[in-house]
Amino acid sequence: MPIRTRSPLSAVATAVLCLTFAACARVADAPSTRTVLPVPPGALAVSTWHGGAPVAQASPGSPPRFHGAVRPIDAATRASMRWSWRPGCPVPIDDLRIVEVERFGFDGRVHHGEVIVRRDLAAGVRRVFRTLFEARFPIARMEPIDAFHGDDARAMAADDTSGFNCRWVTGHPGVWSAHAFGLAIDVNPLENPYVTGNAVAPRGAEPFADRSLNAPGMIHAGDVVVRAFAAIGWSWGGSWSTVRDYQHFSANGR
Ligand SMILES: [Zn+2]
Repeated sequence: MPIRTRSPLSAVATAVLCLTFAACARVADAPSTRTVLPVPPGALAVSTWHGGAPVAQASPGSPPRFHGAVRPIDAATRASMRWSWRPGCPVPIDDLRIVEVERFGFDGRVHHGEVIVRRDLAAGVRRVFRTLFEARFPIARMEPIDAFHGDDARAMAADDTSGFNCRWVTGHPGVWSAHAFGLAIDVNPLENPYVTGNAVAPRGAEPFADRSLNAPGMIHAGDVVVRAFAAIGWSWGGSWSTVRDYQHFSANGR
């Protein structure tokens, strides 16, 4: 089912949720227009590649072109990764890569995004985000987790899409997360929370534990996001049986 096709009922439900919960007060793109809105199909796209002057501007109705790149961890990046990587992590820092992509934000515009994954997976991850770009799937924010000092709870609450982070499995200290190997990416964690029993993370994501909603940025079984990751052999935490980690995709199924 197309995830951005919303029934009038779901539109009303989302509006009510936005009035009721802080979840709709986003912190990423365009704070002044921070509401849950569908991405208009003919949105004017302005590239903010590298945060500089626009390099591509599409006329209304013509699709903007995707730009993406894979680059190694240079000295400046290595210095910026002091929160997410340290000696003893299960992947050498030189085996990681930054995948730079363009993404649609919830404002219908094109924004820069970066995600760090293991070297051999980077080209496939770039293809995933190209597919999401072409589908105009909105991504709220996409910065390496060092922007949040490696704090997963903070990154989730900020609705940040991120990959590598040298940390334990949530609730299992001593067990490396797939993120610690550069094998996993969390997508729109606010709209796609981690749900176990009655607990929902991050705080503020409670409305999105109701997976019958079709709000923009949500991921559902068989949709473009799940299919794009499946095409490179990654599986989705939303299909797990004990906990449901709707934001989580991984190359190793964990
Ligand atoms: Zn994850």
